[in-house]
Amino acid sequence: MYKLIDGKKLAREMRTKIKQDVDGYKQQTGKEIGLAVVLVGEDPASQVYVRNKIKACEEVGIRSYAYYLDAGTAQARVEELIKSLAVDNKINGILVQLPLPGHLDSKKILELIPYAKDVDGFSAENIGRLCMNEPCLVACTPNGVMKMFESEGISLSGKNAVVIGRSNIVGKPMAMLLTNANATVTLCHSKTADLKEKCLSADIVVAAIGKAKFITADMIKQGAVVIDVGMNRDENGKLCGDVDFENVKEKCSYITPVPGGVGPMTITMLMYNTYLSAKRS
Ligand code: NAP
Repeated sequence: MYKLIDGKKLAREMRTKIKQDVDGYKQQTGKEIGLAVVLVGEDPASQVYVRNKIKACEEVGIRSYAYYLDAGTAQARVEELIKSLAVDNKINGILVQLPLPGHLDSKKILELIPYAKDVDGFSAENIGRLCMNEPCLVACTPNGVMKMFESEGISLSGKNAVVIGRSNIVGKPMAMLLTNANATVTLCHSKTADLKEKCLSADIVVAAIGKAKFITADMIKQGAVVIDVGMNRDENGKLCGDVDFENVKEKCSYITPVPGGVGPMTITMLMYNTYLSAKRS
């Protein structure tokens, strides 16, 4: 019998704890914790993400500073804003909502965020520190997955883990976190030969592919832990993950649903990173 890992419930519990920590920080230091959110343009999905991040800030007592710039804003103007936020003591975390409009050099803009305020954990410095298993700000989605393992008491040491997807924001940091937790990790991608065979050898499977119901029951070992990061639409337009949940679940010891699994953890970990960044400063 499988156990569902309830991301919504865990996210709620974590936000309650973060709020207590944020309140404690404010009392001790007499200072606020500030998160700057920069949105360039009117992409509807980005607008929703930014709204949700601001709402989460309100929930945990973090002060948000939203900067809405026109789609046509010049590179120099965006750079100037990030540089000013970088040295602003009110601001503990800087988040630039991606994707940026095509005329902007995203890499150059993101490089202006000091690693101590890089609450997305995307900077080369934070990723390098993660590789070296040193204190850093970890990318929110894979860090949320680690919290799920922790909350369920799922041991990782000595386990075979397969991560499918090698993006800089999910797959690669996920593989690194699992390695740091002493799992033996195989990082798979679109050119991987024998994906099914690799998945079948895994005690833990993390799917971060972006293909609806791509991971099927015949790819999963009996008793495996299956984490579904994917957020896709199925043939009926319904939100679904990368895992064929209905058929895979019976083979699992633990599985995350979509929606209500990894998704709610991501913004929660952003709040956690912002608190951490303030505490470390
Ligand atoms: P991405 O940058 O598009 O990366 C997808 C990865 O999947 C790539 O490494 C790609 O391999 C690999 N892949 C594609 N087709 C494959 C195949 N047939 N076999 C094996 N590997 C294959 O996506 P991402 O940003 O990491 O996101 C992945 C999914 O997670 C998406 O559905 C996204 O919406 C979701 N997501 C969810 C959250 C959340 O909060 N829940 C956060 C972020 C992302 P190559 O490198 O070889 O191309």
